[in-house]
Amino acid sequence: GIPCASDCHSIAQPEQAAPARDSHKYSRGLVLVVEGAMPGASRLAARSALHGGAGYVMLAGANQPDRGPDALVFRKAANADSLATLLEDERIAALVIGPGLGRDAESRARMEAALDSEHPLVLDGDALTMLGEAAAERLYRRKAATVLTPHAGEFSRMFSGDGGKLSVTREAARRSGAVIVHKGPDTVIAWPDGRAVVAANGSRWLSTAGTGDVLAGLCGARLAVGGMDAIAGAIWLHGRAAQLAGPAFAADDLIAQVPVALGECR
Ligand code: AMP
Ligand code: MG
Repeated sequence: GIPCASDCHSIAQPEQAAPARDSHKYSRGLVLVVEGAMPGASRLAARSALHGGAGYVMLAGANQPDRGPDALVFRKAANADSLATLLEDERIAALVIGPGLGRDAESRARMEAALDSEHPLVLDGDALTMLGEAAAERLYRRKAATVLTPHAGEFSRMFSGDGGKLSVTREAARRSGAVIVHKGPDTVIAWPDGRAVVAANGSRWLSTAGTGDVLAGLCGARLAVGGMDAIAGAIWLHGRAAQLAGPAFAADDLIAQVPVALGECR
């Protein structure tokens, strides 16, 4: 693990896990996940958002899936312009883009549509790679909350700087105005106002394909439900679900444990 400064708290489980009595699907948060070249990754994120507590999850993609997407609602977005039209829906509480997105011109145009929207936004995977060194400047202009979930490689493509993981992540959050979830066995979460927490409640078995997509979906759900401050709860849920899933789980099994982890919260 990494050393923790005195103002760096350890991760806490999310509060108010249960919906209010008068909840309905929109009040619990509509999360829209943008599908890309590898639909499997965005579907993991979408299913994860649903089990992370979102009331309504839409997948926006070019091709209607052959099977399903059952509890997920499919919306056709043939190109970036039609995605931009879908994003005019004011019921959207959070967007997730990046898992399996791709990095071609079309993927970039979809990312720009998401960045231009005024919805709270989670950027992961290919979206982070495409942002690259321009990330801080581009994100600072956004009006709504932005959350980035880079692993070490994605982080270093966006932000340079000397220092330990805690200090470079804090600096990146300050410069970009985004919440940064710098992943790994010692995940650092830093907010633009200087707050930071370290999450070490996960499992080494998280080092398997798809778990990052699951995290992006959970961030979307918690962002929709509780805003920027709720992101630490998403990372707690991810780590706790991994512990509950035991050894050698697959990303789908991790999603199945998220409701169990949520059930442990007040
Ligand atoms: P990605 O790199 O996007 O596939 O995301 C992997 C997810 O698994 C992140 O949430 C990481 O923090 C987590 N993870 C990967 N390797 C480990 C590890 N050795 N110990 C704990 N968590 C890990
Ligand atoms: Mg990833």
